[in-house]
Amino acid sequence: FEAILLEEEKNGCIDIADYSGVWVFAEQRGGVLQPVVFELLGEGRKLADQIGCSLSAILCGEKVSALTGDLFEHGADSVYVADAPELANYTSDGYSKVIVQAIEDYKPEIVLLGASHIGRDLGPCLAVKCNTGLTADCTKLEIDPVDKKIKQTRPAFGGNLMATIVCPNHRPQMSTVRPGVMDKPEVQKGRRGEIIQLQVEFSPADIRMQVLEVIKSLEEKVSLTDAEIIVAGGMGLGKAEGFDLLKDLAEKMGGIVASSRAPVDAGWIDHSRQVGQTGTTVKPRIYFACGISGAIQHIAGMQGSEYIVAINKNESSPIFEVADYGIVGDLYQIIPELINALN
Ligand code: FAD
Repeated sequence: FEAILLEEEKNGCIDIADYSGVWVFAEQRGGVLQPVVFELLGEGRKLADQIGCSLSAILCGEKVSALTGDLFEHGADSVYVADAPELANYTSDGYSKVIVQAIEDYKPEIVLLGASHIGRDLGPCLAVKCNTGLTADCTKLEIDPVDKKIKQTRPAFGGNLMATIVCPNHRPQMSTVRPGVMDKPEVQKGRRGEIIQLQVEFSPADIRMQVLEVIKSLEEKVSLTDAEIIVAGGMGLGKAEGFDLLKDLAEKMGGIVASSRAPVDAGWIDHSRQVGQTGTTVKPRIYFACGISGAIQHIAGMQGSEYIVAINKNESSPIFEVADYGIVGDLYQIIPELINALN
């Protein structure tokens, strides 16, 4: 394998010294920037400062120029904009064509994408076309103080170990990053930067997929990553209807309902509500874990919550090890009492 890499280098594949700058993919849906973009700008700024380079965003869509202000105010020094009717809806072909061209023209050293549905599709597509590596689902990014390469850390083997990965010989170094893990930067009102318009031209054969209609699911209105209060339920609910009780409690506090994986697997609730390693990572002010045992894969997605309140009838459940407040008892007795108290 090393021999192949050396051979590639000898063939003059790329000169990594030509590459400079940190880029963030500014994912927008329906003209709304996704929260993970701001998290990536916060993290991207730290990386760029350590390397001593600039931070840019790359924005694709139709009539999206108005979003550049928000990107500057969250730390981007420049924004590359690809604006075309063909980019109105996300397609792997359309987005990858313009972004690969921009990467070839401007040679960023690092490209970060959110590990969203779109980022998870686009990231590998870009990596293949740019003949580089991609570390998916990162939870930590650091710059090596010696060689200034990015060290990308992600859970591996079912979350039982953390793998740190480097991309030694290819550029750009690319990562998708889990939403909800990195901190958003402080907004710098009125901050502005440079806008670079990308030339976009498509031939009919370029985009092989056509989006006929976009239908929003009800779940899309709920953003787990933005929620300040989350009431999550697990198998301890015993039945799908148990989530109605959690909904009552959540609504009393202006919160939303989430789930561990087991009820999702049982078909009691949609996957969009799943918190954990294979679901969403959340950081609310208060996280209620009701009838959730506290498996490591669940904890991985909610341990960043400011306060964790656990309700579980088994006092030796691991969830109590991460909880700030623990209530030992039957959730069907305790939650109605909490609702009464809130009333
Ligand atoms: P259980 O482990 O069955 O726990 C139920 C809990 O409810 C128990 O602690 C019990 O004491 C309590 N209880 C029962 N009745 C009551 C009652 N009446 N009142 C109060 N308490 C009660 N899990 C996730 O959550 N998110 C993930 O993203 C995720 N990803 C995974 C990825 C991999 C690769 C693997 C292998 C597993 C993953 N899992 C994930 C699954 C995880 O390992 C656990 O199986 C799952 O979290 C268990 O869900 P639970 O706590 O709801 O159920």
